[in-house]
This record gives sequence, structure tokens and C-alpha cells, in this order.
Amino acid sequence: MTVVAEVARARNFVNGRWVEPAGQRRVERRNPADRDDLLGVVPLSTRQETQAAIQAAAAAFPAWRATPAPARGRVIARVAQIMTERQAELGRLLTREEGKTLNESNGEILRSINVLEFMAGEARRLGGETLPSELPRNFAYTLKQPLGVVACITPWNFPVAIPVWKIAPALVAGNTVVFKPATITSFTGMKIVEMFEEAGVPPGVLNLVVGSGAEVGDELVENPAVKAVSFTGSNEIGTALYAQGARRLKKVQCEMGGKNPLVVLEDADLALAVESTLQGAFGSTGQRCTATSRAIVVASVADEFVSRLARRAAELKVGDGAQPGTHVGPAVDESQFQTVLRYLEIGKQEGARLVCGGAPLRGGGFDRGFFIPPTIFDYVQPSMRIAQEEIFGPVLSIIRVQSFEEALEVANGVTYGLSSSIYTQNVARLFEFVDRIETGITHVNSPTTGGEAQMPFGGMKATGVGLREQGRVAMDFFTELKVVYVDYTGARRESNIY
Ligand code: NAP
Repeated sequence: MTVVAEVARARNFVNGRWVEPAGQRRVERRNPADRDDLLGVVPLSTRQETQAAIQAAAAAFPAWRATPAPARGRVIARVAQIMTERQAELGRLLTREEGKTLNESNGEILRSINVLEFMAGEARRLGGETLPSELPRNFAYTLKQPLGVVACITPWNFPVAIPVWKIAPALVAGNTVVFKPATITSFTGMKIVEMFEEAGVPPGVLNLVVGSGAEVGDELVENPAVKAVSFTGSNEIGTALYAQGARRLKKVQCEMGGKNPLVVLEDADLALAVESTLQGAFGSTGQRCTATSRAIVVASVADEFVSRLARRAAELKVGDGAQPGTHVGPAVDESQFQTVLRYLEIGKQEGARLVCGGAPLRGGGFDRGFFIPPTIFDYVQPSMRIAQEEIFGPVLSIIRVQSFEEALEVANGVTYGLSSSIYTQNVARLFEFVDRIETGITHVNSPTTGGEAQMPFGGMKATGVGLREQGRVAMDFFTELKVVYVDYTGARRESNIY
């Protein structure tokens, strides 16, 4: 007898129960490194199912709000413990669904555990300020209070870390959550929620709804019971979502795209700059919001920089992220693959000089997945589309400049403002750069990528609107500030302070 393995189906988690979405529409999710490997199907939830999740979250809010913050923090600490125990299992799923290498998956999970541990601790520091009053025998202070139901809408590229860095502070602050993962990483989203369930999150406090942005996401933004929306994703969706939320007077934070520059000055440690560029541009297949997509190099060292970089790029092994030794995994899906291929053609048509890569890998196992080799374009002009638009693939533009001033001008000459980096030994230049670069995060002599759990994260300009994520400031988004004046004089106030 042949045993046919049952196809996995994504489910919602509503009011503490796993339920299969009733919607008729569904999408298949396949391993981007091997299209023959079917992870399962994702039935797309309906607007009504989303409403049920919002209602469950609203009903759970009073009790969760009343739970002492340190007790809420203990639940988050347990999630950190469970994620640590299940790191290998979660890492394999993340690689199979998103495509990044196992090493990168483990790095993402480690970052998530750090965030969980940090946020668990924040539960014991969820305080406001006490300030001296102008008046005698008066006491003035502030309180941070939860908002109610909040929605967390997340992209596919960091399907563990981004949900965690939204859900953990939201719950610690006393909110209840409806979480909508990117449809193509629904199974990873489910696995995270299972960990919160196992850690003892009460029914209704964290709910998961899988389904399309157009239906589930739209309901989360429109529904009056949702008080705040924390979104990470593309500029196209985020910009519309921000306007939609504003019309409903919701608190909204949007973290969106990037076009991150790495500046190499003539006194840079070139070996270090090359390694960091390699890591920033091609790590995670370039599918990182903080990926290095422009290397802005002073002309006197550019030839040397480009030739060393091309040599190192040729050594990177492209393939299935689950295989040991792979450095660069596939594009996440057909659509992202086609987007990157379009940009490769745009770069060629715009007249940039192709140094390496430039076409998809074909033959053998490559035909089963979405593989693009590390691609470097040289002599890119700052106005070209490949220098201005987010590609989100393993594609790097080298822009040659004459001076530090020109490097800064080019670095700032895009609409985005997420991350940046400079390589120099000159202290005056590096402080000048830190002062004038228009990005929310900047690195000195280290890659544009990476961040620590206790540090804020987010971008300027078109990259980010709303308050920053992570670190202590994350709580500012997930709480309302209440100002309290206590007069213990027992007498009528004579003051004329208004
Ligand atoms: P996306 O297409 O904008 O999707 C993001 C999320 O929004 C998904 O869950 C999506 O659902 C949902 N969505 C789509 N339409 C919606 C609507 N009308 N209303 C509400 N939600 C909607 O972005 P992506 O392709 O997943 O992610 C890649 C982008 O994220 C890149 O631009 C990258 O730079 C950015 N990113 C930014 C940061 C940062 O911190 N700045 C971090 C990581 C990624 P579906 O999956 O169902 O479409």
C-alpha cells in the first residue's frame, strides 16, 4: 500500500484554538530552492474570520491589561526558552520556506531570542517619569498604558525576527495582538505562534490570521476595534496603509524599503571594506532591508576594490540554503525572482558595466529553484534606476566618486534612509558622515546590516514613518502616555499656571 503524505494546511490561531480558514481561495507554498518540495497550502482567510480574531483579542484585552507587567514578561521569557530549545527545528523550517541559508536562519533566530529576552526584562521597567511639580505638595508623573488590540503585519524576509520584535513589546505593554504574516511565510508564522501558545499566552491575547493583505490586512487597518498597526514591508503597501490608518486616526508605524550605501574612502582598510560589502550585498541573497545595495567608492581605490570584490563574489557558493557550504540561497519566489531579473536587464540597458553575475543560474538543481548569482554593476550613475530603486536581490551597484563630499551627496541622493556605512580611518570624516548621513542607522567600519536587540531600529525619509522599533523606545509605539497631577495640599489651587 502506498502511503500518500497529507499536505500540510496553514491554520489560524483564534481565541486559543487552531482553526482552518474557511475561505475557498488558497495558495501553495513551495521551497524556493526546490519547487518540487511542497510545504503545504495556505487557505486564505476571509474578512469575517479576521473580524472574529479581532473580537477575540478585544475580549481578552481587559484581563491581559490587568495582568501585572512582570507576569506578562515571564510569558515572553518562556517563549525565549522554547525558541532556544527548538532553534534547530525552526531554523530548518525557515530555510525551507524563505530560502536563506541555515546559518542565516540561525542568526535570525538568535536575534529573535535576544529580542524576547530584552523585552521580557522591559516588563519590569515599564515605567513613566516622575518630574518635580511647579507647585508645593504636588506630585506629577507619567504612566505608560496599553492601547488595546494592535495588529502586526509583517513581510517574508525576516519571518521570525520581525514578528517577534513587534509581538513581544506589544504583549509586554499589555496589548492583545492580531498577527498577519506574509502569506508566503505563513508556516513559519504558525510555528512562532505555537511557541507563544506553549509559553502560556492566554486565549485571545495573541491571534494569528493567515491570508491576503488585500483582505485580512485591509480589515486589520479598517476595523475600529484595532487601535494601532505595526507594519513592515514595501513602500507601495506601507504608504497606502499609513494614509488609510491616518483616516481612522490609528496609531501606525511603517518600516519600509532601503537603498543602503556603503562608502569607501581612500584611507579605508580595503580588505575589511571588501568583506563587509560582500556580506552586506549578497548575504541573505540581498533580501534584507539593510542590504548594501550601493558601494560608493572614491575613484583612487575603486579599481582595486572592484577587482578584489569580484574575486570574492566568484567564491560564493549559490544553492539550496539547507546544504552545508551554501553562501547565497534562492530568491524567495517566482515574483521576486522576476523582479530581480528585470533589474538586471535595466542595469544593462542603462549602460552600467556588468562585472559579474547578471543572469539566472541554469541547469542541474538550479532549474528547480530561483537562483541568481551575486551580481556587480560598475560605473553606475547615481541617477540610474539600479542606483535609486530597491531591487531586493543579490545585486550591487558601484558608484565611483571623486571626494568625500561627493560620496555624501550621492549617499543621501535617494528617497530611502534606512542604513549606511563608511570605511575610513579618518576620525573627522567619520564624525562628519555620522552627522550628515540621512539614515536611521549608520555603521562605521562595519557592514550596513545587523542590529542589536537593545538598540532602536528604523529608517528616515521614505523608509520609515511612525515611532522606531526595538530597544526601549519600542514601548512608545505600543503604549499611550498618561500624565498625572496629584495635589495633596487639600486646598483650592491659587496658582495661575495653565
Ligand atoms: P509587502 O508586499 O509590502 O507585504 C508586507 C505585508 O503587508 C505582508 O504581510 C502582506 O500580505 C501585507 N499586505 C499586502 N497588502 C496589504 C494591504 N492592502 N493592507 C494591509 N496589509 C497588506 O512587502 P514584502 O514583499 O513582504 O517585504 C519586502 C519589503 O519589506 C521590502 O521593501 C523590504 O525593504 C521591506 N522591509 C523593511 C524592513 C524595515 O525594517 N525597514 C524590514 C524588512 C523588510 P501578503 O503577504 O498577503 O501580500
